[in-house]
Amino acid sequence: MLKIAYDPIYAHPLPEGHRFPMLKYELIPGQLLYEGVIGRNNLFSPGLLEENIITRTHDENYWHQLRDLTLSPKEQRRTGFPLSAQLVEREIRIAKGTIDGCRYAFDDGVAFNVAGGTHHAGSNWGEGFCLLNDQAIAANYLLDNKLATSILIIDLDVHQGNGTAEIFENESRVFTFSMHGANNFPYRKEQSDLDIPLQDGVSDDEFLDILKTTLPRLIEQRNPDFIFYLSGVDILATDKLGKLALSKEACKARDQFVFEQCIKYDMPVQVSMGGGYSPQIKDIVEAHCNTFKAAIDLYF
Ligand SMILES: [Zn+2]
Repeated sequence: MLKIAYDPIYAHPLPEGHRFPMLKYELIPGQLLYEGVIGRNNLFSPGLLEENIITRTHDENYWHQLRDLTLSPKEQRRTGFPLSAQLVEREIRIAKGTIDGCRYAFDDGVAFNVAGGTHHAGSNWGEGFCLLNDQAIAANYLLDNKLATSILIIDLDVHQGNGTAEIFENESRVFTFSMHGANNFPYRKEQSDLDIPLQDGVSDDEFLDILKTTLPRLIEQRNPDFIFYLSGVDILATDKLGKLALSKEACKARDQFVFEQCIKYDMPVQVSMGGGYSPQIKDIVEAHCNTFKAAIDLYF
């Protein structure tokens, strides 16, 4: 059965008036339940994380500033959020949901986190709505617990996975692959193991062609035993932050292709949502729900 990490705190840590970016986190499971695509028993609420699991990936000093709410005003602004204890708890639960998702993925082939994909968080900074890097924390957890020896992170959010790239720049067991808008945030990019910068306006066929020629080769070369997939939907033409021009159908075809490769090469995959900033929230929710539907069609 597909396991999906979700907790109500995913959607409710911001004060009134700042909630729009968080709305999707309750609407995605809501829509999937409403359509009968999932049942409540697909959802699990992640717990908290031991601090040493966080500091395995993030700098101790940075973590203490987060935990104690003592980030400087400038560092807080860089995160894009007003810092609060609830917000930090949310990020911890999301990271735990991604770790738990890995365990489920070993059994079921695939598992999801309704949030996560917080790929802008680096070892000692938070940025762009990301405080703790859930998939990086989970990748280190897999390595440390000898659950995986070679990991591939497929980051298809429109923004570069700069935090993930920095965290693993000297870790040969984790291969970071980011396909993203060249002229988009973050403007100072880190170096992933494989970066594919895309020019503005890239649309369906071009995006899918690049993915289809790159990903199978990458999997064959690296032969990972675990895959993380960051399925941001800010590649859509409707997105107000992304500068690409993909249709919803192509976004779903992207997800299908990733899952088909994971199945073909028999590799468990954990999926975190990443970004989505279309002005109509229904576009965001529909595209994210399509990622779940693609997996359910192929795996269950
Ligand atoms: Zn993004």
